[in-house]
Amino acid sequence: MAVDVKELQKKLQEIAKMPREEQAKAADMLSEEEIEFLQKQQSSASDGKQCIFCRIAAHEIPAKIVYEDDFVMAFLDANPSAPGHTLVIPKEHYDFLPQVPSDRAALLMNTVKILTGAIFEAMEAQGVNVLQNNGAVAGQAVPHVHFHIIPRHEGDKIKLDRPPPIKLEEKQFEEIQKRIIAKAKSKSEKRVVYDISGKPIEAQPETKASDAHHGKAADKPKKEKLPRVKPRIP
Ligand code: AMP
Ligand code: ZN
Repeated sequence: MAVDVKELQKKLQEIAKMPREEQAKAADMLSEEEIEFLQKQQSSASDGKQCIFCRIAAHEIPAKIVYEDDFVMAFLDANPSAPGHTLVIPKEHYDFLPQVPSDRAALLMNTVKILTGAIFEAMEAQGVNVLQNNGAVAGQAVPHVHFHIIPRHEGDKIKLDRPPPIKLEEKQFEEIQKRIIAKAKSKSEKRVVYDISGKPIEAQPETKASDAHHGKAADKPKKEKLPRVKPRIP
């Protein structure tokens, strides 16, 4: 029986919401076919040819492509949450976002930004969600990095449920803040901005994770024209 990717995605999202202890038992919620499908998807990481998005990037299987350059491709999601639901991928295979080299990530993100504007206008959207899942537990069914761009309209039935907030003490917030800043500092690289063709356009000083926190803005970038957006009702 063919795997219903949308159904599988729903189950993965349910599993993601379960407490960590219960997630181990969650395999019971998946059929043998679904487990096999996920295993195949996972093993595709080491064999890019099996990966469905690598095959789309290589034009081996068809997709409704809306954008392509040397590094990035965007195509319509085959199981859209709304008309215009688009996926943006790096053409090289990476399982998770942190694995994408920073120069490629900059190009990828820039394309996500440009397409978000295009989709806003083309679909006359009143809002747009940009989503990106990393790991099965986070609802990632296809382990090739991708961004979802989902146009939204007042009254659509799309639910991107976040559970009620958890309670954290001030001390816990501070401890978490410290841990993330330390990791972000150790990972920050010399930031280079690339144009859409991959040409570096501007070298910037090293990113300081704590700068954002203290509100030290870099040189103000020139504002781009906002896409025409239908007003929210009311
Ligand atoms: P995620 O749950 O974030 O991994 O999302 C994977 C998305 O890929 C789902 O929304 C699927 O509908 C979509 N998808 C899977 N295979 C294809 C395909 N061949 N063409 C277009 N979209 C696909
Ligand atoms: Zn791939």
